[in-house]
Formats: sequence, structure tokens, C-alpha cells
Amino acid sequence: MYENFGISKELEDLSNKIEKDIEPVFKKIDNVCEINSLKVLNAFQKNQISDMHFDSTTGYGYGDVGRDTIEKVYSDIFKSEDALVRSQFISGTHALTVTLFALLRPGDTLLSINGKPYDTLDEVIGIKDNPSSLKSYGINFEKIDLVNNDFDYEKIEERLKKSKIKVIEIQRSKGYSARKSIKIDQVEKIISFIKSIDKDVIIMIDNCYCEFVTETEPIEVGADIVVGSLIKNLGGGIAPNGAYVVGRKDLVELCAERLTAPGEGKEVGPTLGINKSILQGLFLAPSVVAASLKTAVFASKMLEELGYNTEPKFDEKRADIVQTIIFEDPNKLIKYCQGIQMGSPIDSNSIPEAWDMPGYTDKVIMAAGAFTQGSSIELSCDGPIRPPYIAFEQGGLTYEYGKLGVLKALQRLTEK
Ligand SMILES: *Cc1c(COP(=O)(O)O)cnc(C)c1O
Repeated sequence: MYENFGISKELEDLSNKIEKDIEPVFKKIDNVCEINSLKVLNAFQKNQISDMHFDSTTGYGYGDVGRDTIEKVYSDIFKSEDALVRSQFISGTHALTVTLFALLRPGDTLLSINGKPYDTLDEVIGIKDNPSSLKSYGINFEKIDLVNNDFDYEKIEERLKKSKIKVIEIQRSKGYSARKSIKIDQVEKIISFIKSIDKDVIIMIDNCYCEFVTETEPIEVGADIVVGSLIKNLGGGIAPNGAYVVGRKDLVELCAERLTAPGEGKEVGPTLGINKSILQGLFLAPSVVAASLKTAVFASKMLEELGYNTEPKFDEKRADIVQTIIFEDPNKLIKYCQGIQMGSPIDSNSIPEAWDMPGYTDKVIMAAGAFTQGSSIELSCDGPIRPPYIAFEQGGLTYEYGKLGVLKALQRLTEK
């Protein structure tokens, strides 16, 4: 059967061998999945989710009970005061943008303490010129780089003592950088350090790709506001679009007023029939995140055995669902991504190429044979065409499909 699918006997044998090595890692992933499933089930039951919450509104979206209850469920899962879970957020970038514009005012300073934020925020912040950037409104931006994959405590302290910082942004997942993703205990430690110097600075977390990877979420360790996408972890592959913001009530309110209109806030926003998908996606999310993690572990070990440089290593503690492979060769990066596409259920016969995607500085190749356009909780692989030519692979709705996709990509990689 594998041969019919175009997978060589050698790869099949290697795969059978390494699946034994990775078993203990899978066991740990299953444990976390169970804890998060319990968290989700508790939140559904506490909020008495029922058929009526699948109903939805059109037009202004006043009195959408399903939407309002979904936000309560999110608050319970994150242990936050409030939540905004909306399909009117077009993407994670949009939710981050709304949050930044909601929290910052002219003259304020935004500080990133993990170096430069995610590529698509360049024009939002004004790192790359844009007449609608935060910078164009007189909002300052500063960054402090990580040292040895951890925060630079000394520089952060020095900066906080110099003059007022309004918002500190922490992006946990690595984005398109070569650093490691930031673990929840690192987040906990830096937040208590920051708050001991200035208790008023708002800590904002870009939590994309990190939800349900461990049993603790950022609000529990002191973050004020947390942002993520629904076509990543929490959508469970079912939510058709959208993003979430959870956190302090006053801050979520500011975000709502920026997303809709001052004075309307959370009261409006039609759900147009997607409440059930958001709930069902969230229900499946712990398992889907577990499948993605297993796919990443499998890929990491296979590629390592084949002599490639991977990060994280298969048995390393993970902060997110992203697996990177440092190819040091643009052709290998492109081939691997093309192989992922060939192993996909949708558009398996199209060959992705690198292109100038809006919001990104370098050309980017993206493989995603996904049911939902651009969904990266489904098996997907992408990377900017710049040295050291890193592939960023993530997702996998089930481990079995994830594994098949990875095998297909490895096969493509070995072909001349
Ligand atoms: C995916 C992602 C985003 C947002 O990306 P969108 O494609 O706009 O949803 C932001 N930050 C990180 C770290 C991400 O992984």
C-alpha cells in the first residue's frame, strides 16, 4: 500500500523503526490532551451548551446568545475575565492589529522582548513604512532581542526603569525566525519580573500555535491579554475562520470597541451560522493539537535519522506545534514543501511555488492542501526563501494523515 502511495520500502522501514523510539513522547502528548479535553468539557458543561447556541444571527448580530456563550466558554478555558471570539477577525494578524491599536495611543511605546515580532506585523507597527501603521499615529516601537533563547532580563530591567512602556508584547511561537519558541514557564518568570518593576505595563501575548500544547495558558501565569487564530490550534480544523482575544475585561472591551465601533463593542457582530463550527472545533482542539504534535515529533525524528538538522528534537519539550527543518538549501526547502502538498487531501496535484505574499518581505513558499484556505492546523509547511532556508511545518488533523504527508515529503526530498 505504501508503494502504491509512492513511498519507498526504505522510508516505510525507517518509519516503522522510529515509531518505537517516539512512543514515550506520544504518551506524554496523550496525557496533556486528556487534561485539556477535561478543561474543554468542563467549560461546555458549566455554560450549559445546548442546541440553541448553534443558532446564529445576521445583520447587526444583536443578542447572539451562541456568540456570547462561546466567549464565556473561552474565558473559562483560559481563566480570563473576558473574551472576544469573532469571525470578524480576518486572521491572527488582524486580531493582533486590533489589539495593538486598541491598547496604544499616540506617544505610547510598544516594546517587544523577543526581538522583531512576526513578519506580518512589520507594516502594522511601521518597521516597514505604511501610512496606516502604528508609527503613523505617533506610537513608538522598541525591541530587545533574546539571548540564548531566553529573555534579556538585564536590558528589560534597564529599559523599564528608563521611561514608561505601555505594552510589552511576547510572541511565543518562533514565527519565521531561527530561535526556539518560548515555553510557558519562561513566560511566567519574565512576567513576574516585569511586574515587580512596573505593575502597570500591559503584557500582551501572541499565543498563535501554542494553545493546548501544555496544560497551562498565559493568563494563568500573569499575562493581561492573549491573542490567537482560529484557523490554528483552537479552531480544531473545523472553525472556518476567525480569531480570539482573551484577558482583562477592560482590555478586551477596548479591543471590541476597536473591532466594531466605539459604543457598540461586543454587542454587535453577526455569527452567520458558524457558532456550531466554532464550538465543535474547540471540542476537538485538544485532540487535533495532539495529532499535530505527534506529526511534528514523527517528522523531527525521521529527518534527524536522514541527517537533517531539526528543531525541536523529537524528545524535546515543546511550546508550540511548529517543527522546523534547517535545510541550508533553497531547493530542498521547496521540494519538502511540495512533497507536503502532494500528501494533502486537497489540491494534491498542484505544485506550490515561492511568491510575494502580501504582508511578507521575502518570497514565501506555502504548502497547505487544506479544507480551510490557509489553515495551518491542517498539515502545512512553509518558509521564506532566505538563508538558512528553514521549513516551518505544522498541523495535522490526525496523526495518520500527518505521518503520510511527512512520508510523501521525505520521498520527494530524496528524488533527483
Ligand atoms: C500565524 C501567526 C500569526 C498570525 O498569522 P495569520 O496568518 O495572520 O493568522 C501571528 N503570529 C504568529 C507567531 C503566528 O504563528
